[in-house]
Amino acid sequence: MSDCCSAPGLMAFEVALSQLLDNVYTTNSIKSISIENALGKVLADTVTSPVSVPPHNNSAMDGYAFKYSSLEQIAAGGGLQLAGRSFAGEPFTGVTQSGQCIRIMTGAKLPDCCDTVVMQENTRVDKDTVVLTKSPSEKGNVRYKGEDIAQGVTVFEKGHKLSAVDIGMIASLGIAKVKVFGDINVAILSTGDELRLPGEELAEGDIYESNRFVLRPLLQKLGVNILDFGIIRDDKEAIRQAFTKADQLADVVISSGGVSVGEADYTKEVLSEIGEINFWKIAMKPGKPFAFGKLSNSVFFGLPGNPVSALVTFYQLGVPGIEKMQGLNAKAKTRFKAATTTKLKKSPGRMDFQRAVLSYDEQGMPIVTSTGSQGSGILTSLGRANSFIVLDKDQGTVEAGESVWVEPFSHLLM
Ligand code: AMP
Ligand code: MG
Repeated sequence: MSDCCSAPGLMAFEVALSQLLDNVYTTNSIKSISIENALGKVLADTVTSPVSVPPHNNSAMDGYAFKYSSLEQIAAGGGLQLAGRSFAGEPFTGVTQSGQCIRIMTGAKLPDCCDTVVMQENTRVDKDTVVLTKSPSEKGNVRYKGEDIAQGVTVFEKGHKLSAVDIGMIASLGIAKVKVFGDINVAILSTGDELRLPGEELAEGDIYESNRFVLRPLLQKLGVNILDFGIIRDDKEAIRQAFTKADQLADVVISSGGVSVGEADYTKEVLSEIGEINFWKIAMKPGKPFAFGKLSNSVFFGLPGNPVSALVTFYQLGVPGIEKMQGLNAKAKTRFKAATTTKLKKSPGRMDFQRAVLSYDEQGMPIVTSTGSQGSGILTSLGRANSFIVLDKDQGTVEAGESVWVEPFSHLLM
């Protein structure tokens, strides 16, 4: 029996990813910053609550607060005697006696002498007497101290990336500063004599460069500092200079192009002179060639030149690596099964990341449709997609209607 997966030289995708992750380290730069600047930063320490939220029992309604047991004292047709008031920021400081109540507003502190709030719509007020027009429920309309966040609990783990809501929560705990991992520096460069910038004239045989134009916004969303080294000519000295400089300034150096087998350029030569780089052939499609290793100061990701391969290898391998360096806790990708609406051609041997549109049928069940031609240079296959169909390396062609794994794009690709 022929074993597709032991094709010589091809490394399983999962092996490549775990080797890569084993060889990148979380930055040791940690700083304390004010929460106003903390959006998207990764916590370098757990956040525990120094206070209870809410800090005191309080009213969930505008109404009247009293001790429930004192209802027994009310004569038929009578009511509670108004003895004071508690407004937000202006609590009631006295003590009510049995049969008394206080006016209370939403969020205002509930004094210890009261345990129940009746909403004002269920009362009738006659001078200083509050008549209950509907029986209140015992301990109703009370929000308890610490019911949202108890004092001393862990609110966020180390390695958590802060969202807008998280920052609001931290503010609600009275915390003004947080410890976060420092930003990492990522250098990008494209290699190739044929590459021209958008806006320039194309000479015979040239193409417009697109890889850095995809990488830059992706890296912006990842929250790293970007050092853009532009397009580097296929010239040994130019490549050596660019890689050396990028290595001095950055924590990660990402190049695209020049990693295919039999490449006539100098990328491989220079990299092996200035670092320890492995040229992997990964059993994945798109994106078989991928270089990974270390320069003197930085980690190196060598993406294939083809735009789709560059983007898919960066998204599937580079992004988890960068996130680990940023200190982010690893999270499993969202993957679920959906029926493919079309036949998906595939031969066993490589894990396939086909580009597709996820939608729902009339019954609300997830269905997925390939974006068509899946060539590694066809960027429109990605642009029109919102998901990957992930086909295991042993998988052959899939018929329409069969169920396949779908991985929706993260916010990075949308
Ligand atoms: P290479 O890996 O350098 O042989 O490049 C493979 C293919 O990708 C070639 O057709 C290149 O012209 C193309 N390519 C390389 N780099 C880029 C880039 N930055 N943007 C767009 N296409 C590229
Ligand atoms: Mg090239």
